[in-house]
Amino acid sequence: MKVYCPYCRKEVDYKVEKRDLKEFRGIEINTYENVAMCKDCHHDLYVDEIERKNNERIYELYREKANIIKAQDIINLREKYGISQRELTAILGFGKMTINRYERGGVPTKSQSDYIKLLIDDDNKFVEKVKEAYKNGNINDKTYEKIVSKKLKKDIGRDDIQNMYRKVINDSLQSKANIFNGYKEFDLELVENIISYISSKVNNLTITSLNKYLWFIDILSFNQRGISITGLTYQKQQYGPTIIDQRYKELSLLDDKYVRNDYEDESGTKTIIASNKNFDLSKLKDSEIKIINKIIKLLKNKNVTDISNLSHQEEGWKKTKKFDEISFEYAMNLNIINNI
Ligand SMILES: [Zn+2]
Repeated sequence: MKVYCPYCRKEVDYKVEKRDLKEFRGIEINTYENVAMCKDCHHDLYVDEIERKNNERIYELYREKANIIKAQDIINLREKYGISQRELTAILGFGKMTINRYERGGVPTKSQSDYIKLLIDDDNKFVEKVKEAYKNGNINDKTYEKIVSKKLKKDIGRDDIQNMYRKVINDSLQSKANIFNGYKEFDLELVENIISYISSKVNNLTITSLNKYLWFIDILSFNQRGISITGLTYQKQQYGPTIIDQRYKELSLLDDKYVRNDYEDESGTKTIIASNKNFDLSKLKDSEIKIINKIIKLLKNKNVTDISNLSHQEEGWKKTKKFDEISFEYAMNLNIINNI
């Protein structure tokens, strides 16, 4: 193999000599490097291929000995918060293309590496840094909110959120048996199972319709048995009877037994409840399941408007003032009886 020697000013043969390399960037690495030497004048020569291999090996050793982070560590940090190289560079306050360079294999200094590692290991420190970058105008609202909301979701966790919804629902709906819950104490687990059951039988069950299904089930049950099934309390809302305090919202967000899907169409956002098909109706009597099935059969092929109109023909709707709770006393006379 020949290479140009600037000392001999001609193409020369070279030999390769192994030399000890004890330190690199102040870190003991105890390795060697290959150096090309001119066979004629014995000067060191630069041979691209040999240097590249030296660098690769030495940087790798240095990374290991100095505990320098890897490109993948930085990529993982960015992906965790969904941020770009530019956004991360701005947060860290590094020079323009720094993160880009490190992700392509460039080796960070020990102090930069230690600093990034600290932020990788400690979410709170990272968010602190993000807040600081935001305050100094180095990142915009969008970046800031993206990171902080990701962090919040991670901190709170799915179970905590679900339990929070359950508490809010129970706080509104738990009360002694009375005329407004059809003399039945509210049982959230039972209601979740009933919703799972209804949504397994009804395609495209909207939240608006679901409120009416539950109300009809309870008033029919009260009419025939003197007691409701779910123990839910309903109020007169703009378009029909709904669960009080709009707790159908939190109810729709529980996800053990069914899931809520939001769609956009020309009329706005539609919320559909889809069953996980894992309902357990063992707490229900046969007579109660029969009542639920009757209401499903009655309503399943009707659209939201028809179902709402049907609810408006009931005394409970007509005789209750707007936003008041609907008493089950009106269930003694039911219009739907004629349709069942
Ligand atoms: Zn030479």
